[in-house]
Amino acid sequence: MSPSSSRLFQAVILLSLALSLLTLTHQATAQRLPQAVIPEHYDLALTPDLKTATFTGQEKIDVVIKAPVSTITLNSAEIKFTSVTTVVNNASLTAKVALVPDKQQAIFDFGRPLQPGRLTLAIHYTGLLNNELRGFYLSRTPRRNYAVTQFESTDARRAFPSFDEPAFKATFSVTLNVDTGDTAISNTNIIRDEPLSGAAKHAITFAETPKMSTYLLVFLVGDFKCLSGSSDGVPIRACATPDQVQYGAFALSAAEFTLHYYNTYFGIKYPMPKLDMIGIPDFEAGAMENFGAITYRESDFLLDLSHASVGAQREVALVVAHEMAHQWFGDMVTMQWWDNTWLNEGFATWMENKPVEAWHPDWKLPEQVALGNQATLDLDAQHITRTIRAKAETPDEINEMFDGISYGKAGAMLLMVENYLGEETFRQGVHKYLAAHLYGNATAEDFWSAQAEVSHKPVDKIMDSLVSQPGEALLTFGSVAGSSVPVAQRRFFLNAANASGNSESWTLPVCFKGSTEKHCEVITEREQQQPIPAAPFLFANAEGKGYYRSNYSEENYRKLLSNVESQLTPEERISLLGDQWALTRAGNSTVASYLDLVHEVRADESPSVISSVASGLGSISIRIAADKEERSQLSTWIRTQFAPSLQAIGDPSQNDTPARRELRAELLSLVGGLGNDPDTIAQAKAITARSLADPASADPTLFVSALEIAARSGDETLFTQLKKASVEAPNPQQRESALRALSLFRDPAIEKQALDYAVSGEVRNQDSASFLARELRDIDTRDFAWQYIQDNWSKVAAQLTTFSGAYIVGATGSFCSADKLAEVDRFFAGHKVAASEHTLARAKDQINDCIALRAAQQPSLKSWLSKR
Ligand SMILES: [Zn+2]
Repeated sequence: MSPSSSRLFQAVILLSLALSLLTLTHQATAQRLPQAVIPEHYDLALTPDLKTATFTGQEKIDVVIKAPVSTITLNSAEIKFTSVTTVVNNASLTAKVALVPDKQQAIFDFGRPLQPGRLTLAIHYTGLLNNELRGFYLSRTPRRNYAVTQFESTDARRAFPSFDEPAFKATFSVTLNVDTGDTAISNTNIIRDEPLSGAAKHAITFAETPKMSTYLLVFLVGDFKCLSGSSDGVPIRACATPDQVQYGAFALSAAEFTLHYYNTYFGIKYPMPKLDMIGIPDFEAGAMENFGAITYRESDFLLDLSHASVGAQREVALVVAHEMAHQWFGDMVTMQWWDNTWLNEGFATWMENKPVEAWHPDWKLPEQVALGNQATLDLDAQHITRTIRAKAETPDEINEMFDGISYGKAGAMLLMVENYLGEETFRQGVHKYLAAHLYGNATAEDFWSAQAEVSHKPVDKIMDSLVSQPGEALLTFGSVAGSSVPVAQRRFFLNAANASGNSESWTLPVCFKGSTEKHCEVITEREQQQPIPAAPFLFANAEGKGYYRSNYSEENYRKLLSNVESQLTPEERISLLGDQWALTRAGNSTVASYLDLVHEVRADESPSVISSVASGLGSISIRIAADKEERSQLSTWIRTQFAPSLQAIGDPSQNDTPARRELRAELLSLVGGLGNDPDTIAQAKAITARSLADPASADPTLFVSALEIAARSGDETLFTQLKKASVEAPNPQQRESALRALSLFRDPAIEKQALDYAVSGEVRNQDSASFLARELRDIDTRDFAWQYIQDNWSKVAAQLTTFSGAYIVGATGSFCSADKLAEVDRFFAGHKVAASEHTLARAKDQINDCIALRAAQQPSLKSWLSKR
């Protein structure tokens, strides 16, 4: 899966999703199925009724009984059984079905023991097309209903009784009986399409699938239309509701490039006879990697190239590349169990960047990756975090694995190890791992053993130390003496109060920047003397791909400051900025020292460097500044630093590179947002008005920033205009950006209207909670929004989906006072939100960290500002 909503906001959403499976106890009972009965093949015929929101199912499962059993247990949820039969020695047997709802299991008892051998279970049942965006569910447009599926992690059992665990791989033959005039899409090609006698329906039968896990099956029913293309002889389609299909062209071309790229990289051909990609009007995640038929949230898939920002284009290309990477990592080779969810998600997160970087080097993806890694490091440096591999037994625990650790940390680990081994060696290890487990299941050990065998380097030790221990290392470097430096490692925490008594120690590849090339070493001890290459200064994260924090001597830090623009790459600057801000939060450095670094990079030409700076400055303004007066002093300083760059870059031009467009937009955000510059705000309002009247009149990348600034100080007229656009704008990206902007208005009367709208039922369930979470994160809207959410909880709760309650709980972590901490604690103690216990613990941890940070750093900020 891809995380929901735009990747531009990935960090905050992942923050809210991230959990601790380590520090909290679990009373979950084991819910795994017995191992004595193994499915081999499913024959499924489903008949959805889009008007009554129900479906009927006829299913045959060929199973192998490995040892004598008295009953057969499989997974089932919200299914009504009509009959369950089998044939043993030519005798037809009917089962009594016992349901175990809290385990989502059904037990078939045929009234006699079953001996080892083969058996076919014949099951007739009915089910619900639900509104919960999981299982077999109903998606709606103003024109009609669609029946669609989302099975990961544990919801195939809502569509068909099944052995719904990733290691129970089987083949599937699917028939969908659909209304005349409708079509259906599934994992494989249609092999038969025949009218059903006596009904206004036809039966669409799909070719048998390869051996695969249940969570990767997909059924889509409606009047979808498709654009067609191909790559390496594989037909590829981009499909959507008929009015949206033209916006699939961009994703289609991204997929064509990516399929050939992956065929070459993996050395294993894409295995399915076709690849379909389908935009779904209601969809909880960003996208889902169903084998051969990837489903997407519309705004992560469909775009109008002439009106799309650079960020939106990159996002769609990355989501396409992420889901396509899963066709190998996840679909062909699947984790044995959900405790190793990172084998799917970390790999897809690391891999997605390769084809997109090859397709569009002008998007500067490595800088984006470095920026994303900083957010992950901050997440993992909280007191409450978890190991990459972690226990997950119940559906709630399994869903909680889809967080910033499985995606961000595992992806960052793979990038670091690849950087250490070299791209080609690592690629060979990947190939060896995949080839050994095709159409099967694998564990973490399988992967690192393959890499160790290919590279003859201690990859197993490195990866084990990263996968099995929580948190991250802080490397503290002493004074350089000749060609070596003393280095000590300990676990790093953003809040120094947590730092004592921890015993973690990593085997860590560290790449030092040399005068001409990087020099990588493996650090193994808590303290050691480390040889380093000759260089004018010490920099221990060459290329910015390391997953650790670095702390240098004051003398070396000053050398870095004077060389930061001339000697470090943008990725290295991003990692230095991230380290320095994290060290400030942890009390190892001061806000003044960080602001000295910001001053050095004020004229930087990388939009990601400016974005990193904006994030640090935003935190200082929100978390450290004592009051409005101090925030205002900081704004003044921000204007003096960055307004000249904004003026210098001037108006958009046809010849602008994507990076230049993004730099202009970042600077506009910074100067007009945190800088609170009246002229820039006026300029943003003018761009917004122009662009809303005629989208072709403004640069789409600049418009994204301008709209945010305009909305923050927007009036009733703009609100009404955007509310209309959030429903009626022609393409999904425009609708999404208008909806997003509605959550930013600061005028309390308008904010109330926005909140009323978010919980009215008019905003899709897929968007409602993230809307409220944005209101909670903004310092100027959060107090009002928090009161509103408490006062209107029943309406808020009515729109929550599998993951989205945790967004709201997580967003309360942006508060920064003991009063609010008590309020948050009290409110959620009385109003339980499903699958968010760990998110709540993390949010409270964040509030505590913020209180400590303000106490520690506010004097430093005050004194620094007074000298400006
Ligand atoms: Zn994924």
